[in-house]
Amino acid sequence: MAKREFWFLVGSQCLYGDDVLRTVDARAAEMTAAMNAGGLLPYRLIYKGTAKSDAEITAVIREANYDETCTGIITWCHTFSPSKMWIGGLRLLQKPYCHLATQYNREIPNDEIDMDFMNLNQAAHGDREHGFIAARLRIPRKVIAGYWQDEAVQRRLGDWMRTAVGAAVSRSMKVMRFGDNMREVAVTEGDKIEVQAKLGWQVNTWAVGDLVKEMHAVTETEINALMADYTAAYDIATDSIDAIRYQAREELAMKKMLDREGCRAYTNTFQDLYGMEQLPGLASQHLMALGYGYGGEGDWKVAAMTAIMKAMGKDENGASGFMEDYTYHLAEENPCSLGAHMLEVCPSLAADKPRIETHHLGIGMNEKDPARLVFEGKAGDAIVVSLIDMGGRLRLICQDVQCIKPILPMPNLPVARVMWKPAPDLLTGIECWITAGGAHHTVLSYDVTAEQMKDWANMMGIEFVHITADTTVDGLEEKLMVADLVWKLK
Ligand code: MN
Repeated sequence: MAKREFWFLVGSQCLYGDDVLRTVDARAAEMTAAMNAGGLLPYRLIYKGTAKSDAEITAVIREANYDETCTGIITWCHTFSPSKMWIGGLRLLQKPYCHLATQYNREIPNDEIDMDFMNLNQAAHGDREHGFIAARLRIPRKVIAGYWQDEAVQRRLGDWMRTAVGAAVSRSMKVMRFGDNMREVAVTEGDKIEVQAKLGWQVNTWAVGDLVKEMHAVTETEINALMADYTAAYDIATDSIDAIRYQAREELAMKKMLDREGCRAYTNTFQDLYGMEQLPGLASQHLMALGYGYGGEGDWKVAAMTAIMKAMGKDENGASGFMEDYTYHLAEENPCSLGAHMLEVCPSLAADKPRIETHHLGIGMNEKDPARLVFEGKAGDAIVVSLIDMGGRLRLICQDVQCIKPILPMPNLPVARVMWKPAPDLLTGIECWITAGGAHHTVLSYDVTAEQMKDWANMMGIEFVHITADTTVDGLEEKLMVADLVWKLK
């Protein structure tokens, strides 16, 4: 994990005199210390002082832009801070921005309240002046209102911090493509220049031959060490130990290449495995467990999104993974969707300890039966997310889903499986997803929320479509039609 922190900038002005400013300063420091001690913020909040002038604000925002540890700024106005002094600084701001609308005291003190109290405690109108200038300048930001000591407020701040980490990870994202995309597929294509300009992703290709060469250089000692990790984390349910060792060889070689190039995500395709005996299954699953993003069939958009959403989770490696809508259960009772992939489902989604199995894989150029992890996904609320290239803009589609324990044992299905009920119901959910153009590949996440994905899209300046319990096909069609016009004007 990179060292990250967030800066707390408190707005004021010189009008009030030194006594008031000293109190503001002391209280801002006290609030920062208490929020850090609360244990709900995943990253450290650093109080950067009370801003009283254009020069101070511009200086601290310049510093925030160039400081690699500063991952975002959080602002609040204890008193009134005339916002013309913020224009210069906010115009330069390149980091995620959250406006915390709070106040030092929770309640109005009935007996003590007088004009001195009113002069010192002006957040109710100070925060409105501050909000206006961001709206006027069209600067993307998150507004969180509530009492700073409340758990709900600190949790929302924490979620926003994780989202800002998602933006930072995106801006440094490098994706290694082993070969090209699966032939003829449309939704996995996209404008790599646009994603680099907009999201920061560097997406480039390496030859599968380079990977094969790297695989040959992996030593038995290295494989033994990784086999010990596999044995500790998973149940071995196959006699084909050689197949597992081969996956370890693939994983070690891919990891070396990824780390050498600073890549946090990668893709491959079953159509291009020249010189390899097995499509990486267990190898890709274990790399995902380590936090790398993966996309099948050359899908570099889902690979990068998987890495970003993992980084937005707990300890920057949460329960998020590459997923594919495979088939539906259209029964009247318990209709649901079955998600899986040929092999590569991340074990962070597993309900129980995964098993390593080997099975025949007819698709692709596998000479040997690939080893893979087999498990059932966890039950619980989740989201599925798909980034698509609309030509001229990127659209991020997010759907609320409820994952359930698979209702069928499916004893002959040789891959990991997750079952869910999409919002608002299976059929309307399918109609909405298809209407919006969502891909068959998604990132499924149990710990990143739809609100975070909306905030992330806002930070990155891309379109966001959310399919919820309240979405209707008609309503969605109208939103998409309006969005088409809006994004042409941007
Ligand atoms: Mn696929």
